[in-house]
Amino acid sequence: MFLSSFLKLTLFMAVGGIAGYFLPLGSQSLESAYLGMVLILVLLHLKEVWLRGRFSKWLNGSDHVADPHFTGIWEDFSDRIRRILKQKETMRLSSEETLRQFLAAIQASPNGVLLLDTESRIQWCNQTAAKHLGIDPHLDSQQLIGNMLRNPSFNSYVHAKTFDHEVVIEGRLHRADRPHKVGIQLFPYGEGRLLLLSRDVTSIEQAEVMRRDFVANVSHEIRTPLTVLLGFVETMQTLALTDEDRAHYLNLMATQAQRMQTLVEDLLTLSRLEGNPYPSQTEWVSVANILQQCEHEALGLDRVLQKDGASPHQIEFMVYGDVDACEIAGSEKEIISAFSNLITNALRYTPAGGRVLVRWICAPEGAVFSVEDNGPGISPEHLPRLSERFYRIDRSRSRETGGTGLGLAIVKHVIQRHGGSLQIESKLNQGSRFALLFPASRIRNLEAQTA
Ligand code: ADP
Repeated sequence: MFLSSFLKLTLFMAVGGIAGYFLPLGSQSLESAYLGMVLILVLLHLKEVWLRGRFSKWLNGSDHVADPHFTGIWEDFSDRIRRILKQKETMRLSSEETLRQFLAAIQASPNGVLLLDTESRIQWCNQTAAKHLGIDPHLDSQQLIGNMLRNPSFNSYVHAKTFDHEVVIEGRLHRADRPHKVGIQLFPYGEGRLLLLSRDVTSIEQAEVMRRDFVANVSHEIRTPLTVLLGFVETMQTLALTDEDRAHYLNLMATQAQRMQTLVEDLLTLSRLEGNPYPSQTEWVSVANILQQCEHEALGLDRVLQKDGASPHQIEFMVYGDVDACEIAGSEKEIISAFSNLITNALRYTPAGGRVLVRWICAPEGAVFSVEDNGPGISPEHLPRLSERFYRIDRSRSRETGGTGLGLAIVKHVIQRHGGSLQIESKLNQGSRFALLFPASRIRNLEAQTA
């Protein structure tokens, strides 16, 4: 590089010297040759000044991509600078892409992410955080988070500065009839900055409420017969009773003990249904057998209900299609428990002499088991809640007839575990119809298969 520049300069000076010597700059003498060299040097210097000016203009400009067409050392400089700038640009684009991917990933997160500066002003938040907290990611940028949330629990959480736990506040969509709870936790980072993470804890909170209600309900259900039982025990311990009275009290005690036993059995059934894997799709049970057992149990229960001289119910079992060839894939024990729960309810709630119609319909698109009665019926506001645990319309009627309030919850679980659904139709003072719909995949007809 240096050598070629030196040779070029020497060449230019030689040309200048020769031109000065021969051209009519004066007489052909050494002075005019020197003059020619000096002129060449001045011209070369002027060209360098002009190139430097162009270079400086190019450097200060914004377009470094197009080739500026420099020559000599300036071409070398501009090439190097363009290469460095290109590398920097590639790095910038790659960093921007990484940042874009990173932000897209945070946007896709099911949790809310919000960044706060040292003064607790919102710097950035993803859509989930915006949805949870009711914030507009653009309009509310730089707003104080305390002003945006205006929640006493959150404010005291921020002031306490103990961020080792989550604080739960009502979310933006919260309504009295449709709760929306959001869990928020702050994590300090950088120099005095805070990262806010939010998550929807509505279902967790609801499950917690349900768990508390369930424990309270179970305790209440057990406490009542237990208190009665203890009362009788005390009476028998303190009073001298005749044999007849003693037998009477023992009978009443047996009823209460029976009530507790039924409750515990129903609770165990429910917990088994919730904890066990779904019934197999490959074990087939005979519908005829199940219906036979249910009919047997129904007649037995009806005899018990007639004890006080009440007239029997008109119980009728109707099957559509060849029931002997029909099978359900699932658990026989669970299906019998669901069917007989519905039949038992119809007998218990329908006054003596009433009609109970049990139907089995098997069709290619599935099967339906239904129990229809002409009992008291149920008013519409109760219908959506009937299969909740311990939900009863008439508590005393349920208890009098040995109900635990868990029957329909068990039925719903069983049918859902078999891929089907529970349908309830009822009109006050006209009767009710409870139907279990089985999907076609769980039903098979042996006749059709062998044909
Ligand atoms: P229970 O043990 O109280 O019968 P269930 O879960 O089986 O509990 O039923 C819930 C409630 O639904 C009952 O308390 C009763 O009020 C109502 N119910 C169920 N079946 C019938 C029916 N066939 N006719 C009228 N009411 C019914």
